[in-house]
Amino acid sequence: MIKESLQIYNLLEETETLGPFKRFAIWLQGCNKNCEGCLSPRSKSMTGGKKYKIPELTSLISENKNIEGLTISGGEPFLQAKNLNILINNLKKINDYGIILYTGYTLEELKIKNNEDINNLLKNIDLLIDGEYNSKLDDGKSLRGSSNQKIIPLSCRYENYLDLYGVNGRKIEMFFKKDKIHFSGVPGKKFLKEWNSKFIN
Ligand code: SF4
Repeated sequence: MIKESLQIYNLLEETETLGPFKRFAIWLQGCNKNCEGCLSPRSKSMTGGKKYKIPELTSLISENKNIEGLTISGGEPFLQAKNLNILINNLKKINDYGIILYTGYTLEELKIKNNEDINNLLKNIDLLIDGEYNSKLDDGKSLRGSSNQKIIPLSCRYENYLDLYGVNGRKIEMFFKKDKIHFSGVPGKKFLKEWNSKFIN
């Protein structure tokens, strides 16, 4: 019996705010960083979220025929590197999905760990947005939170789309799930302040 699962903060079947093309978005639950002004405070707790078995997630993602790929954020995705690799390897057997991943670690920090699961996950990623969010360096540019975060192609898949990153303006999509309202995309500071004052206790 397959027991592997991922602890997920949120899922969105389709978004256009987290990279080129239509993408499935996954926010992993749990983060060990402590960025001031965290962009996703409800995803930080190690105990929250919902457990999804890998086959269930594989089906949910592959059922959507509109998407070009998957954007993975958090929380901190590399805390669940082993099972993320299983999910991505499953998906790549079904379709040639592109993988974009946001992490609070820098690429250098990840490489220094010299961990097999982390190295395998890096091999599975096409585009990495790395580094902790720094609110003092938040310049409102697109698809990354602050100017210290780097946009790093780990394959050539998105090399013609790199100019979408770090330019003027941010896009947010709102969506409802059960009794809660959520957003997708990298929020601006003003939006986030208002959002947190209304929805984060
Ligand atoms: S890495 Fe992301 S989720 Fe973690 S504390 Fe920083 S902004 Fe928040």
